[in-house]
Parts: sequence; C-alpha cells; structure tokens
Amino acid sequence: MPRPTHAIRIHAYGGPEVLQWEEVEVGAPGPGEVKIRQHAVGVNYLDVYHRTGLYPQPSFPFTPGSEGAGKVIEVGEGVTDLAVGDHVAYAWPLGGYAEQRLIPADRLVKIPSEFPYETAAMMMLQGMTVRYLLKETFPVTKDTVLLWHAAAGGVGLIACQWAHHIGATIIGTAGTDEKAQLARVHGCTHVINYRTENFVERVKEITGGRGVDVVYDSVGKDTFAGSLDCLRPRGLFVNFGNASGPVPPFDLGVLAKKGSLYVTRPTLFTHIATRAALLEAATDVIDMVQLGRVRINAGKVYRMSEAAEAHRALEARETTSSIVLLADYAARRVPSAHRGSGMI
Ligand code: NDP
Repeated sequence: MPRPTHAIRIHAYGGPEVLQWEEVEVGAPGPGEVKIRQHAVGVNYLDVYHRTGLYPQPSFPFTPGSEGAGKVIEVGEGVTDLAVGDHVAYAWPLGGYAEQRLIPADRLVKIPSEFPYETAAMMMLQGMTVRYLLKETFPVTKDTVLLWHAAAGGVGLIACQWAHHIGATIIGTAGTDEKAQLARVHGCTHVINYRTENFVERVKEITGGRGVDVVYDSVGKDTFAGSLDCLRPRGLFVNFGNASGPVPPFDLGVLAKKGSLYVTRPTLFTHIATRAALLEAATDVIDMVQLGRVRINAGKVYRMSEAAEAHRALEARETTSSIVLLADYAARRVPSAHRGSGMI
C-alpha cells in the first residue's frame, strides 16, 4: 500500500479559503510518466486565476500550482531519460501544490544537483515567461525603451534584471515607494509609483514625448488605456496578465487613432509547447541564473499547507519578488531566522 501524502485541493471556485490541505493517494506512474517528491513549488498569479475560476478547470477537485521542483522517486514504463534520484523542475501541467505528484516525463527538465530546489521552483514559469516576452514577443535590444508594469513582482523583478543585462532602458511601475526602490536596484532605469503619480505623463516626460517601443502589461483592466498612451507610433502593447481584472473588449479603431499600434496577448504555454522549445527556454533560464545575471529571491516562503495565506498576501499586493511553498520535510531545513511573517 502506498503511504498517503498531502496536497492542496480545490472543490469549488472561491477565495483563498477554498485551498484545502488534504490527504491524498498518489498512484504509480503510468506509461511516459514519473512520480516526483516535491521540495518546493512556486506560487504564481496564474494560480489565483485557477482558484477563482477566471481560467476554468475541467473538473473538481483539482490541485492548483504550475511550477515546482523535486526528486524523481518512481519511473513509468517507456521513460528512458530520467532515473530515480534525478533532480527535476517543471512549469506545467497543473497539480503543483502537492508533496508528491505524477507528471509526464517530457514536461520535466533536469536541474544540476547543486542547484537549490527553491530557486528552481521559482524560476521555471516566471523565468521562461520573461525569456519569451523579451526574446520572442518583442526582440528587446540595448536600443529598446520599454515600460514594465508591476516591476517589483515575481515576473517583474526577473524581467528588470534580464532586460538590464540586455542593456535596454527600462521604465518600471510599482504600487509603493518601497517596491519602486526594489525595482530600481534590480535594474530599472526609471521607476514610477503608479498609485501616486500619473504614469502616462511620467513616461512622456522620461521619453521626451516619444513614448516607449513596447509596454509589458500584466495588470490588465486598470492600466490598459494608459498603457496605449505610453506607446510611440507603431509600438507594441503586450497584455500578458490580469492582476486587476481582464482587459474589457475594445474598439480596434483605437489602435489606428493612437498611432497604428500593435497588440498581442501571449501565453507561456504556446512558447514551450514542444519538448525542444521547453528545453531551449529552460536552458536559457538556468544559464542566466547560474551566470548570476538573474538572481531569484523569495519575497515570502510558506509551508505548502499555508497556501491560502500566500494567496491572500499576493492578491492584497503585499508581496514582492517570487513566492515559494515548501514541503514540510524541506521547511524543516530553513534557518530559524526565516521563521515567522510568511518566512516559515
Ligand atoms: P506579481 O508578483 O507580479 O503580483 C501581481 C502584482 O500586480 C501585485 O504585486 C501588484 O503590484 C500588481 N497589481 C496591480 N493591480 C493589482 C490588483 N488590482 N490586484 C492585485 N495585484 C495588482 O505576480 P506574478 O509575478 O506571479 O505574475 C505577474 C503577472 O504575470 C500576472 O498577471 C500573471 O498572470 C502574469 N503571467 C503571465 C504569463 C503568460 O505567459 N501570459 C505567465 C506568467 C505570469 P503593485 O502593488 O506594484 O502594483
């Protein structure tokens, strides 16, 4: 009989309280699958959309979480390139908030054994997102002037460092002066507190009236109209998230009036759909971290069973940087200095 383990499960859409820590049984891996014992899983705003039903799921109960890292403990039939004991990480599919899980082997990436699980768990989804946004959605160069909203968040701080490494001019926005300062030390050239300043006026001022080449907007509803006004003629508006709610339907004619603008709404999963694309993206991210060009810091660390508290803080805009949940056996290794106030 397999020993029961624990996972967060959702039985109905709702607030953070629907994240229930329950005993579950994880069966043996099927053909092409492996079973992993997870040490750390990343918390992403995406998980909030799954929990609330903004991105609906096919059935209940389900386990949220799209990013994690751990050790292979069982290998299914036909899996030849992974073995028990390998350290692995992933960014999809759902099922992350769990001590153990089954996952298709072709969605896993091997990570160097000296690489901390916590780092791997926080960098896969957010790091590969930044990579495609800066390399593929708009090929950012040292001559690019870009605007990045929520620059002090998990994706935001990785983006600031990556774009700074490229040499681009980065205008970041953030909700408090402390967050603005954090974005600045992570590479932002200019930072705007968009709760106290008019970000459109400030962008015009900073760019001498020209506007930016590209706006990366994951805030959505609240920043959409202003973001279009920050673009130079024929600039690109990239909406890649909905932290304040989805962008409502709009008249395409607006794009003509504001200067023949381009708009796109990309998602990571299209960019890592094939095994080759996943490996290329993950390798780039691992390299950036190993070379020290991007540092992945946990703004908050929680036990996996405390996922509800992590969601509450994320939605209340109390967090900066990435958030990680640790399995109990991994949490016990965290220094006592980090215990309390969301740091275990
Ligand atoms: P963040 O750490 O960036 O948290 C969200 C931030 O958004 C908040 O901290 C807050 O920063 C800002 N915000 C502005 N308005 C609101 C609001 N009304 N409610 C809550 N937050 C608000 O989250 P992640 O790093 O996990 O994700 C960032 C975004 O990237 C998300 O929208 C996510 O969906 C998106 N994403 C998209 C992907 C894709 O491929 N399309 C893949 C991965 C992530 P502040 O206080 O500074 O305003």
